[in-house]
Parts: sequence; C-alpha cells; structure tokens
Amino acid sequence: MTEQRTPLIAGNWKMNFDHLQAIAFVQKLSWSLKDARHDYTDVEVAVFPPFTDLRSVQTLLSADKISLSLGAQDVSPHASGAYTGDVSADMLAKLDVGYVLVGHSERRQGHGEDDATVGAKALAAHRAGMVPMICVGETAEDLEEHGAAAIPVAQLTAALAELPEDAEFVIAYEPVWAIGSGQAATPEQAQEVAKAIRDALRELRGDERADATRVLYGGSVASQNVAGFLRQPDVDGALVGGASLKVDEFSRIIQFKK
Ligand code: PGA
Repeated sequence: MTEQRTPLIAGNWKMNFDHLQAIAFVQKLSWSLKDARHDYTDVEVAVFPPFTDLRSVQTLLSADKISLSLGAQDVSPHASGAYTGDVSADMLAKLDVGYVLVGHSERRQGHGEDDATVGAKALAAHRAGMVPMICVGETAEDLEEHGAAAIPVAQLTAALAELPEDAEFVIAYEPVWAIGSGQAATPEQAQEVAKAIRDALRELRGDERADATRVLYGGSVASQNVAGFLRQPDVDGALVGGASLKVDEFSRIIQFKK
C-alpha cells in the first residue's frame, strides 16, 4: 500500500444473500461504519452481490447516500442478443455497477472460462465504462511446478491482450489454494506476487499505469490478517469472500488501520 493508491476492500458475496438479505446487510454495514466514524476517503469499500440483488442495493445506496461501490460477479462477453442466461455489460452499467469481477478461479474452474473469455469479459466491462477486476492466481499444483508468480503473471498478460492501452483495471491476486481454505498466504508471499504483477504491468503498460493500478490480495482474508497484507508496499487492498458475509467482521476488515 502506498499513499498514491487508495486501498480497496471488496466483498465478494458469491452465491449468498437474496435481495432482502442484501438490503439488510448493506444497511447494517453502513450503520456499523458510521458508528466507527469510518472515513470513506481513506479506504474505498465495494460489495459484489449476486445479479438478482444489484437493483435493490443500487436503490438503497442512492437513496441513503451510502458511499459503497457496487460490483458485479460476472458479465457476458457479448453486447446483446441470443445468449440465454447472460447479463450484458450495458445492463450492469445502467445499475451504477462500477466494477466487474472477471477470471475468478471459481469461474475458470467451475465454468471452464479460459484466458480468452476472461479477456473478452474484461473488454466488455471496459467498453461499458466499468472497471474490470481481473482475478489471477495459481493452484497448489502450479505453485509446486512453476512457483507462485508465473501463472498469475501469464493470466494477467493474456487478460490484458485485448484491453486498450488506456483502460483502467484492478487486479486481484488470489492463490487458488488460499480461497475458502482458511489458509491464507503470508503477507510476504502476497507481496512477492503483487510485486511480480506490478513489474509485469510496468513492461506491458508503462510506469504510470503500473503505479496507479491497485493490486489486491484475496484468499482467506480476515480481520486478524488483513493489516499484514495492507502493510506490504505492492498490496493495495483485499478481495474478501467468506468474511465479507458477516457485518461485524467485514466492518473490522474495512477498519484495518485502527
Ligand atoms: P475467501 O474467498 O475470502 O472466502 O477465501 C475469496 C474469494 O474467492 O474472492
């Protein structure tokens, strides 16, 4: 984390909370942060609800002037048409969605999404004025075979191939073995890969973009370990799964500095 980049704490709800639960959760989170006098200029907070919750959360955020960013968990690579079950980038942008997760390992593994699809989704999000959050990370086997950084850097390089030079994006480094396992990477491991990612960005996009781009760590982040990650010079935030579903715990994660 450096002064130059505003830290981003993002909650990936995955397939949890219907729209009523989503409203209750966001209200409680907002009260909790108000009670704690959370300074929204210091840390950006984003939630990534399921598609069916987005409209309800959007309405709540705008009516109550709650400063949370809204993200979607997926997007269609196609603009419109005969794609049953898909949701387009324009539809999401109309709901004030600012970020879109692409390349999460649960999509890569569970839905067979390859690098080309991830790149096409990132491009679709960018074209609609949203910021893709490109998820990269190695499996336990990758780690053994190639070390920690090679696969994340290769996935990033592939995802950026189609994205215009001036496109803004966020990167979430999530070692697959750390997701939902309760076994987070160490802050030093996260820093090592975050730095390799930033070095690759320097090559691919130049210094300005490399210095401005936020690289998050994800994988079993909790209130007890978040500060260690954020103290690393190249880690600019966290993508939080399980721990983002509990108001008190997520609120403590957001206030990691206190
Ligand atoms: P986790 O999930 O925090 O539950 O490990 C992180 C993620 O998959 O984004």
